[in-house]
Amino acid sequence: LDDRDGWIWMDGEWLPWREARVHVLTHTLHYGMGCFEGVRAYAGHHGSHLFRVAEHTRRLADSAYALDMPLPFDEAAIIAAQRECLARNDLTNAYLKPTVFFGSEGLGLRAKGLSVHVMIAAWDLGNYISADAASIGLRAMTSSWARHHVNISLCRAKTNGHYVNAMLALNTAVKAGFDETIMLDPEGYLAEASAANVFLLRDGVLHTPEVTSCLQGITRDSVIRLAREVLGVEVRERRITRDELYTADEAFLTGTAAEILPLRELDGRHIGGRAGAPPPGHPIEVNSLTARLQRLYRRVACGELDGELQAFRGWLTPVGG
Ligand code: PMP
Repeated sequence: LDDRDGWIWMDGEWLPWREARVHVLTHTLHYGMGCFEGVRAYAGHHGSHLFRVAEHTRRLADSAYALDMPLPFDEAAIIAAQRECLARNDLTNAYLKPTVFFGSEGLGLRAKGLSVHVMIAAWDLGNYISADAASIGLRAMTSSWARHHVNISLCRAKTNGHYVNAMLALNTAVKAGFDETIMLDPEGYLAEASAANVFLLRDGVLHTPEVTSCLQGITRDSVIRLAREVLGVEVRERRITRDELYTADEAFLTGTAAEILPLRELDGRHIGGRAGAPPPGHPIEVNSLTARLQRLYRRVACGELDGELQAFRGWLTPVGG
């Protein structure tokens, strides 16, 4: 990953990709206190644009503030740098990772006198998830690892250290032969997947866990708004139990990079089986709500904003101009 051409923005400067290095005593490397974002850019018909970059950058600033890491740049400067990062690296369909971390002035937990750094790297996303894979979706198992408790960590902050828990859960599931994991909160209610939010459909109503242990996903918000405002589907944010997911008509995961991915099986149960859904391993029905939301989300994300979809123009930030 580190040996390639390109430019990385760090603390207001553009560094050649191979030279964007930090010291081994970087505080965040030792204790995991830092925060980041995953932002997506799309190649639209009228040039490329960042998708919901203002919301991502606000979440980054909120994460840093909650962690008490004073950001040396304002949100406007971080948005400008993300736009330039795409232009400089000649990227259109891309994933960006703005990251905030402590410097290497000292290692104490008091974090006294530490500098706060900001870097932005971007990658070409290529065909990250093929249309076939997006239609076939995922088989998952419920994790024995609980998601963070609100009084153990800052669940709304996208904190580096949180991902130890996500990796334990994901890799336990992958070693057992699954694609993904579904994590419960410490009380046993549904939280989210390793790095994606979860939704279920039952009798025409969408349900998703309220934001306590799960991250306040921006794709989650986009899906809630598109379902309510464009498709007229009722969405309820509430506490959900795992058996509700077993007996759902449809279920899917949401996240910036993966967008909307069908969840086809959980703990050996074929989700939607009783409602006549095709078995796991086969494409979902083209008229399922999951497939309709996938198409709608793609249209909006790619900037095809005709008719009523014009209301979502504010979600796109052109890279040039
Ligand atoms: N939960 C976690 C733990 C995540 O890492 C992500 C990815 N950022 C999500 C949910 C989905 O959030 P978003 O839609 O903002 O990408």
